[in-house]
Amino acid sequence: MQLTLLGTGCPSVDYKRFGPSNLVSTKKSSILVDCGSGVTQRLKEAKVSTANIDALFLTHLHSDHIVDFYQLIISSWHSYRVTSWRVFGPKGTKKFVKKLMDTWKDERTLRIKNEQRFSIQAFNVKVTEFRKYGKIKIKDLVIEYFTVDHKPVKYAYGFNFFHQNKKLTISGDTKPCENLMKYGQLTDVLLHEVFIEDEIHTFSKMRTKKTLHNVKAYHTLSTVVGKVAKITRCRKLVLTHFVPTQFNEKKLIDVVTKDFGKKPIIGKDLLKITI
Ligand SMILES: [Zn+2]
Ligand SMILES: [Zn+2]
Repeated sequence: MQLTLLGTGCPSVDYKRFGPSNLVSTKKSSILVDCGSGVTQRLKEAKVSTANIDALFLTHLHSDHIVDFYQLIISSWHSYRVTSWRVFGPKGTKKFVKKLMDTWKDERTLRIKNEQRFSIQAFNVKVTEFRKYGKIKIKDLVIEYFTVDHKPVKYAYGFNFFHQNKKLTISGDTKPCENLMKYGQLTDVLLHEVFIEDEIHTFSKMRTKKTLHNVKAYHTLSTVVGKVAKITRCRKLVLTHFVPTQFNEKKLIDVVTKDFGKKPIIGKDLLKITI
């Protein structure tokens, strides 16, 4: 199984770190996890056609994770996709997809009529909403989903991908939570979000102490993520979803290594990890 980091950023724009998105693939299957800003450009760079993606899994419905959804759909049609999309996401995904498809309906109708392509299946989006916990099999991959704690976001999930006795855990956006430590046990690779303390400061009235406090409160701090990883006893820790997107790498590695006992991998857009 291979993990490709497509976007390792956060809502702040950074041309080196695009919006959150990851691809999990094997020889037989490819699953996209989230579709943040720039996802289709990164897929193109990674030489993965949107026509061949088996399913899209959404960790939660924060805009940085789903903002390029329509771009993904339309771009897949332009990449000659002839199959419908399967989307798995939290409660609210059906409503989100319906509203978005409705927003673009007039434009789409005109385009379909004008372009006269063989298939319009790419616009057929089948949504399955998660329960609290479950397992889904897609070709040779088994995906286990479990709730994480990203409150006040009500529905947020982490994922385990299983393939040939290997396990990949994706934290999604979360503060330290028991479920992640439970389901992430002995994982081969833990891909975890991080909020880097001391690298983000108040900015006039637009980023107050209260703003910082609230944002920090639903993420996992750099001074904590190594401890979480240690509890999971993961083989490798890969960090992503960097808030902020630019920071002192050496300092972050040192802080996390102290807690984890091993050196973490600092994720970068288009980094590939074989598991
Ligand atoms: Zn979030
Ligand atoms: Zn996020």
